[in-house]
Amino acid sequence: MRTETLILSVGKCSWGKCYACGWGRIQGKYTEEEAKEIIKKRNLSGVDKLKIFASGSLLDDNQFSPEFRKWLAEYLKEKGVKELVIESRPEFITPEALEPFKGLKLTVAIGLESANDEILKKYAKGFTVRDYLKAVKVLRDFGARIRTYVMVNIPFGTREDFDRTMEFALEHSDEVVAINTFPHSKAPLFDMWIRGEWSPLDKKQFKEWVEKWESNPKVEVDFQNYLFVPKFPPEKREKIVGATSQSLRHPHFEVWQDYFQRFYEPKPKKLLLFLPCSYRKPYPKSQTHQKIFQALKRTGHLRDIHRVVVSTPGVVPIEFSDYYPFNSYDWPEWEETPEIKEEYIKVTKERVKKFLEAHAHRYEKIACYFKHDSETYKAIQEAAEELGMSIPNLLGESAWEAVKDKKNPVAQREALASLTAGVKRLLEGQELGKET
Ligand code: SF4
Repeated sequence: MRTETLILSVGKCSWGKCYACGWGRIQGKYTEEEAKEIIKKRNLSGVDKLKIFASGSLLDDNQFSPEFRKWLAEYLKEKGVKELVIESRPEFITPEALEPFKGLKLTVAIGLESANDEILKKYAKGFTVRDYLKAVKVLRDFGARIRTYVMVNIPFGTREDFDRTMEFALEHSDEVVAINTFPHSKAPLFDMWIRGEWSPLDKKQFKEWVEKWESNPKVEVDFQNYLFVPKFPPEKREKIVGATSQSLRHPHFEVWQDYFQRFYEPKPKKLLLFLPCSYRKPYPKSQTHQKIFQALKRTGHLRDIHRVVVSTPGVVPIEFSDYYPFNSYDWPEWEETPEIKEEYIKVTKERVKKFLEAHAHRYEKIACYFKHDSETYKAIQEAAEELGMSIPNLLGESAWEAVKDKKNPVAQREALASLTAGVKRLLEGQELGKET
């Protein structure tokens, strides 16, 4: 059976208020006329089943005109499509709206999310369980199949609520999809995560919630149905400035560290290399990082190395350098007090430890390149010690002696030569020498 998926970016969900949803708040890119042209360009001949996603409801007259739906249904029948899966809120599911789809094997997916009216109210779902049941009846009378989405770890809900919802959804549906809850950054749930009042489930936790249901042939589970990254929209960004505890533990840094520790999946590489930050942001644009980049390039192993910065925001894989807040925070070293330095070491050690616990297995070797007297280096060493690991510093002893009194020691020629030689020794199978 040939199945295809079509994303219809047209109009806007006329509800648009669900607590975790960002899609419903976005206006679609195309007019109906443009959408028709896009559909006509798709090769739908020979497609048995078509799934349509529209970031809202295909049956909503405010989002799609009845004429468009009629055209779409006729066009699909003409092309020989046999099965169609669409999505809709319950209030738009009426015999009139379904009429054009007669002749197709129709499945309508409804985002019930929870079978508890109190939770639905707090979640701002805008309908009740009764509304859902009414829609189910209309669909049954029409002869359509029912697919119900249930949210795993919905805010304001408990695991017991989830289990009850699954039982209820299975009773009324042909298919049930248990979907992990991730917040769109524009949605209020994202702020709840930032405030520490709710957090998404990682793979292991999700598995624990759904394993009881997974063996049911009517159930599908979906851990992550879109590429989730905590991108802060411009209106939620703040200027994080100052060498203070508030900056160090800023909730925006904490949310990103949670993401890197529990959701991020770096590609396996030969070497994980921890690097210092730079005054200029984003890091790769700074002179220091450009020199480090050149030194690594000279090893011939650039592609085998994952550069990861350790600094005030925590552990930052280099590919995220240009994301807020990593591209804009400021930690003036001259404001540092002995107390904040101590706190920095403690907090950074924990962040490095958690990152290594989650990802060390993806790398063959782990090393760092830091000033020997830096707090970050101390934090990395303490983290390594607690994990029973060894993380060599590729800024060797004699190179450090040669550069330590110079401005920006890690960007000095002797230090960079030590880095190049250290990487070569590590990756070309020789023992790490003491010096360069
Ligand atoms: S979840 Fe669905 S109904 Fe709710 S706002 Fe988003 S698109 Fe609209």
